[in-house]
Amino acid sequence: MSDCIFCKIIDDEIPSSKVYENEQILVFKDIAPKAPVHLLMIPKKHIPSLAEVTADDSDLLGYMLSKVPEIAKTAGLKGFRTIINTGKEGGQIVFHIHIHILGGGGSLPF
Ligand code: AMP
Ligand code: ZN
Repeated sequence: MSDCIFCKIIDDEIPSSKVYENEQILVFKDIAPKAPVHLLMIPKKHIPSLAEVTADDSDLLGYMLSKVPEIAKTAGLKGFRTIINTGKEGGQIVFHIHIHILGGGGSLPF
């Protein structure tokens, strides 16, 4: 998607602080962290949101979730929070599906 900022991050057209990358996913630091550690995990496939996911994406989404503990552990987190905002009314700002991984600094407020 040419006008998607996360696709541009994948293509290195926009700089980011990458912490993990492979053929299917990219993990980078959120530019406006809401916790001492705030990472975003995205698929390299452009899927606008969780609302647009189809059965064809189930392996990819399962894979992403299965990678979260490894990423969190590497980031030094003993516990973490995962968030997927979906749709404008769900707080989504960037329409390329992403998993927020937050933690560090004690218990998270809610
Ligand atoms: P959401 O509200 O779930 O769509 O979250 C989008 C997140 O992307 C926000 O936490 C932003 O701070 C973050 N963000 C936006 N632009 C960038 C960027 N260029 N690099 C890193 N994080 C970004
Ligand atoms: Zn995209």
